[in-house]
Amino acid sequence: MADCIFCKIINKEIPSEIVYEDENVIAFKDINPKAPVHILVVPKKHIPTLNDFDDPDLMVKVMETCKKIAKDFNVAESGYRVLVNVNKEGGQVIYHVHFHVLGGRLFKFEQKGE
Ligand code: 5GP
Ligand code: ZN
Repeated sequence: MADCIFCKIINKEIPSEIVYEDENVIAFKDINPKAPVHILVVPKKHIPTLNDFDDPDLMVKVMETCKKIAKDFNVAESGYRVLVNVNKEGGQVIYHVHFHVLGGRLFKFEQKGE
């Protein structure tokens, strides 16, 4: 997708701090971190939202990458959150599906305005 910011990151047209990459998945640091660890795990295929994500094999690869990132950033045992914002009321801003991996602080279930 020509005007998709995450496709541009995947194609290295704009810089990012990439922490993991393979054939199908990329992970990079969020530019505006909401926690000490805030990594975005992104399938390389342009899929707009979770609603459009209909590739179970790729889903497993994405989730396995989230687990690996948590381990690599030493939050697997202390705890972390994997979050997907979906569409407008879910707070989605970038319409290339991505999984936030957040850790290094305490999260509560209810976080209004975040
Ligand atoms: P959403 O609200 O769509 O789930 O989250 C989009 C996330 O992408 C936000 O947390 C935002 O900080 C991050 N983001 C937006 N633009 C860029 C960028 O150019 N580079 C990086 N690394 N993160 C970005
Ligand atoms: Zn894209």
